[in-house]
Amino acid sequence: MEQPIAVTRQSFDDWMVPVYAPADFILVRGEGSQVWDQQGKSYIDFAGGIAVNALGHAHPVVTAALVEQAGKLWHLGNGYTNEPVLRLAKLLIDATFAEKVFFCNSGAEANEAALKLARKRALDNGNHSKNQIVAFNNAFHGRTLFTVSAGGQPKYSKDFAPLPGGITHTPFNDLAAAAEVINDNTCAVIVEPIQGEGGVLPADAAFLQGLRELCDRHDALLIFDEVQTGMGRTGDLYAYMQYGVVPDVLTTAKALGCGFPIGAMLTTDELAKTLSVGTHGTTYGGNPLATAVAGAVFSVINTPEVLEGVKQRHQWFLDGLNKINQQYPIFSEIRGGGLLIGCQLTKDYAGKAKQITQLANEEGVIALIAGPDVVRFTPSLVIPEQDVKEGLARFARAVARICS
Ligand SMILES: *Cc1c(COP(=O)(O)O)cnc(C)c1O
Repeated sequence: MEQPIAVTRQSFDDWMVPVYAPADFILVRGEGSQVWDQQGKSYIDFAGGIAVNALGHAHPVVTAALVEQAGKLWHLGNGYTNEPVLRLAKLLIDATFAEKVFFCNSGAEANEAALKLARKRALDNGNHSKNQIVAFNNAFHGRTLFTVSAGGQPKYSKDFAPLPGGITHTPFNDLAAAAEVINDNTCAVIVEPIQGEGGVLPADAAFLQGLRELCDRHDALLIFDEVQTGMGRTGDLYAYMQYGVVPDVLTTAKALGCGFPIGAMLTTDELAKTLSVGTHGTTYGGNPLATAVAGAVFSVINTPEVLEGVKQRHQWFLDGLNKINQQYPIFSEIRGGGLLIGCQLTKDYAGKAKQITQLANEEGVIALIAGPDVVRFTPSLVIPEQDVKEGLARFARAVARICS
């Protein structure tokens, strides 16, 4: 065999479309919550590939499912169904409000399907002006043109105009403002139970409850974007279960495949009828390889052991982060749920989240940002206590450096 092509971080700048600015090292291997770079340096992974690697790296059950399916059947196309996709659909239906599932390959595609469903349903009901979508400032729903327009961060959409129309944004957690724009022409309201990319901002229970009532009053669909909060991230399988507010449509991706690309839109029998044969689709969605992996992921995550463990790990993080903050007061608030944790930087450290995560890398721990002023942690749901302790010790050294 030929030697593999030699690659370094410089290769990224040489060969890749520059939409990302990755760290200056290349990771080559992972096991549980530890990863190693080309030079063999170890890092504790508190980012989990941005809330994706919910069972860490190379989880034996997930790897076994992948390897087994890889030897059987990868892809068929939608003219033929398959066993793993049907099994995964049944698992999701039995565990949630949903009665029907549509599979795709990413969070954006799941949201795209949800928004298209909402528009078509109103049209099918003969209501030609009921096409308005209400979304929230700072929301993140993906990078396709429709989902980036539904998102509430103009910096991600403004350069791509003309954008799809009929989308109104109002302040998150402001029910009165939402009530002013939700009316009989609204076909859907889309909301994250905890805004992830927007800064780890949990919705108030009364806000989601109020949106539910407004949607019922105006016959609009309530879409929960649980792409980041889903699959055990907050300590329940989905965050809606904690809030006690049931959406009409729920989107899920990220942790669903633990790194294998897959997304899904969950909904009811009644609403599913909208997307009749030929009205929507995707080449890869629901292929046997992705759904076999996701089935294994689901079976591990949807257990009392893992879900209870998330609540315990939340406390380990809170205790450790509060201790760091007592010594070096840089956080004005530590918030979020389960293992979706955001640390808001004080005014003195505003804008320094990226710099802190870069120092953290140097100390051997991987953390995320959520905007310029929030350090975010989304580790594996099964991260061992020893890794939490070691990772926080390394993170404390990074914080000490920024404070000195
Ligand atoms: C990551 C994310 C998306 C987009 O998912 P992709 O798989 O990148 O398309 C959508 N919504 C939320 C809440 C997310 O966190």
